[in-house]
Amino acid sequence: MKTPLLWFAVLASFAPAALAQIDTVQTIAPGVYFHQGDLRRGHSNNGWIVFADYVLVVEANFPSGAKVVLPKIRETSDKPVRFAFNTHHHGDHAYGGKVFADAGATLVATESALEEMKKAETGFYGGAPGRWEGAAKNRPDVAESKLKPPSLVFPRELVFDDGQRRVELKWLGIAHTKGDGFVWLPKEKILFTGDACVNGPHNYMGDATVSEWIKTLDAARKLGAQTVVPGHGPIGGPEVLVDQQQYFVELTRRLQALIAAKKSPADVKAALPALATELKAIANIARFVPASLLNQAEKIHVELGGAAFPR
Ligand SMILES: [Zn+2]
Repeated sequence: MKTPLLWFAVLASFAPAALAQIDTVQTIAPGVYFHQGDLRRGHSNNGWIVFADYVLVVEANFPSGAKVVLPKIRETSDKPVRFAFNTHHHGDHAYGGKVFADAGATLVATESALEEMKKAETGFYGGAPGRWEGAAKNRPDVAESKLKPPSLVFPRELVFDDGQRRVELKWLGIAHTKGDGFVWLPKEKILFTGDACVNGPHNYMGDATVSEWIKTLDAARKLGAQTVVPGHGPIGGPEVLVDQQQYFVELTRRLQALIAAKKSPADVKAALPALATELKAIANIARFVPASLLNQAEKIHVELGGAAFPR
């Protein structure tokens, strides 16, 4: 899917109960913070971890989101913000990079996230206008800023350990994108997931491989997190990973059954409202069902060997 703006356009629906937590700083553990982004502005969640000498931020957000969170980080610590981790290349997680770089931070990502960025950000890398230029048409904060890609990349793991605090950045497999990075605090058993795990109807699959994503969530579950910080939506426990994975499994299984029953793409498309009702009846995954299953179901349908839906 080439449509450049979809990755955040699909995100902006959520339960009213969750609104109370938006744009507030929550202390997860001493020196470990969570800030739930405002999806109405397209913002991702942020986290930050205070080390003896510096602060590591999770997510660069959009430029406007970075500007919301940076002063709040400084209220919690006088240490310099030295690193900002882009969990993946999408704009709501990476386009605020310049805000953090201007504040003195080095931008960090997995090597595959940087590769994905190079494919998507053709404008920055000397080619035709890419995603940034598309986003700039609709977002003044992007139009007024400049792309700052990560310059410190790692293939599988990068560890920050100052003797007091240990944080492991990990690539666990293909998921929401090819380059998703996780942030694991083994002592505190806190896992920041980026968009490899969301908590609500916020899954964007345009750059995903859902069959691989399900496996990568297995690897994430094996870490044994007690606190899961999703890329979008409220913070939760290990059930967030379980429920997100089960949602994909249940959706895939139903599409597989329709394909096995030789249903045409038009028939599968027509079955989606009933399928959504079925999924909403499963208590622990109901919150993941979006207003329309069209994009998610089509993505999986094509992955399973089916054709795109008639539009
Ligand atoms: Zn994303």
